[in-house]
Amino acid sequence: MPAPHRAVSFEFYPPKTPEQQAQLQRTATRLKAHAPRFVSVTFGAGGSTLNYTPETVRTLRATHGLDAVPHLSCMGGSRGEIAALLEHYRELGCTRLVALRGDLPSGMATPGDFRHAADLVRFIRGEHGRHFHITVAAYPETHPQAEDAQADLRHFAAKMNAGADAAITQYFYNADAYVHFVDNVRRAGVTAPVIPGIMPISNFSQLRRFSEQCGAEIPRWMMRRMLAFGDDLESLREFAADVVAALCRRLLEVGAPELHFYTLNLARPTESVLERLR
Ligand code: FAD
Repeated sequence: MPAPHRAVSFEFYPPKTPEQQAQLQRTATRLKAHAPRFVSVTFGAGGSTLNYTPETVRTLRATHGLDAVPHLSCMGGSRGEIAALLEHYRELGCTRLVALRGDLPSGMATPGDFRHAADLVRFIRGEHGRHFHITVAAYPETHPQAEDAQADLRHFAAKMNAGADAAITQYFYNADAYVHFVDNVRRAGVTAPVIPGIMPISNFSQLRRFSEQCGAEIPRWMMRRMLAFGDDLESLREFAADVVAALCRRLLEVGAPELHFYTLNLARPTESVLERLR
């Protein structure tokens, strides 16, 4: 089993079809070899999709012995529904959560009882005291809906002060954005760990789409290089793994406490980066 270079964690999304379930089983089996501190499972809003996250958390804990950590968003329903989910996670043995506002899916009219992630953090602390270690989201390149960067920073600090223990960032490819963000949050009095979220690259058009939605910038030089690879996926992936590994190295040099990988339930892109870090 390869020794981890530095503490890592992995994010998965909850599979919905038997094929996706099999893929996640394969991915979890491979990535387990990197001894993640935890793996987190994203949360989709609305109706029947609410069941997928708890079920995936249960399976990853029972089958793989991983510390599977549920994401929970304000879109998870009413106060009562969220309270029930929290009880369920306690029964599954969870001691960590990622608490988010979430985004309102199109066609869903009511966002639930909580407006901002800070409200959810406060609620979890009120109901469960210090039982859960709570991680929240951070945006080194500013959340796309924020009034401005200063307001976003203030809201982030307020969210931490509401009782969060740590933050994981949105992905970015410009290490300076992380350095400046961490400097600013320290100046705002936040001492909690800010873990960079790392997005390995395997599919350029998908990355471009995600980045437009979430406001993450793909630097022009990276974009031009990746476009030039055209259909040569192998070269694109090698280039991307080199670039993302260099980003990780720089982040660790400037004091990032650990690395959190957005795996999209694929093992290879994350493994390619981790191999380069060893
Ligand atoms: P908040 O912290 O509530 O902030 C949202 C916006 O509101 C920001 O612009 C902020 O500046 C502003 N704001 C905050 N407080 C106030 C206030 N008091 N007054 C005015 N404005 C305020 N989404 C999912 O649906 N499921 C997931 O599993 C998921 N996992 C994620 C994991 C990570 C690590 C990250 C970085 C994001 C994840 N997201 C997920 C996406 C996230 O839900 C969206 O980015 C969402 O738009 C914001 O969520 P938040 O928790 O950061 O919200």
